Amino acid sequence: MSGLRPCLDCGRLSRASRCPTHQAELLRRRERARARESGGKRNPQQYRVNRRRILDDCTPATPCGICGEPLGRNRRQWTVDHIVARSLDGSHDLENLRPAHRSCNSSRGRGVKS
Ligand SMILES: [Zn+2]
Ligand SMILES: [Zn+2]
Repeated sequence: MSGLRPCLDCGRLSRASRCPTHQAELLRRRERARARESGGKRNPQQYRVNRRRILDDCTPATPCGICGEPLGRNRRQWTVDHIVARSLDGSHDLENLRPAHRSCNSSRGRGVKS
């Protein structure tokens, strides 16, 4: 038994149901569909809700997602950073958000204001 199957899209033999090329393409498509379903970046309400959920879980000891230093006591310095920038199609999903210092987030620079 070789365990090889033809790719569903192009027929090339591989170990998965699709060749690596089409497997990657499928994942990308699925990721995009999911972002759309969950409102994606066009849903500021989702951003507000998830942002609040993340910040509510934070303590002064929570590390900043950008510099790795603790967030510190000044809550006004706490913000939420998009791991995949919104300009690169990053979503407002919880998995794409992380706590960060406001100063770190704005110095990252490529962010579009929400
Ligand atoms: Zn293929
Ligand atoms: Zn930081």
